[in-house]
Amino acid sequence: MKKSRSPPFLAKCDAYDMYKRAVPVGELRLPPYDTDAETGNVIVVRGEVYCRMPNCPRAKIAFCSTTNLRNHLRGQHDVVLQHVFDGRATRLDRENSISWYNSLFEDAEENANGEIKHEEDNELKFQVDGHNEVKV
Ligand SMILES: [Zn+2]
Repeated sequence: MKKSRSPPFLAKCDAYDMYKRAVPVGELRLPPYDTDAETGNVIVVRGEVYCRMPNCPRAKIAFCSTTNLRNHLRGQHDVVLQHVFDGRATRLDRENSISWYNSLFEDAEENANGEIKHEEDNELKFQVDGHNEVKV
């Protein structure tokens, strides 16, 4: 299995970790692309490795880097992408990316409608105590 390259600042982001695991198994549906308000260009979030275009075979198969995903979007879908600087992510970039990954799971929780159960709920233990004997 090829290991994906991801931005170092996402290494500690739990939501990003979940994104990478939940998308290929179909547990997470990604929202459509956002576009830049001025240019209408498609915005790819830093660290993204799955294609979000409808019916794309690469929707669940990770690219090894966001750069590869961007090349795919341009080449396969004729999408005009919002320019990003290839260098280090700025603090704002990092914050925006992390909050995007977090937002994926906030929505998921609402949709799950209480189906997520805590482990403790499944661990109901009935203890039989020894106080049944009656002394006369
Ligand atoms: Zn695609």
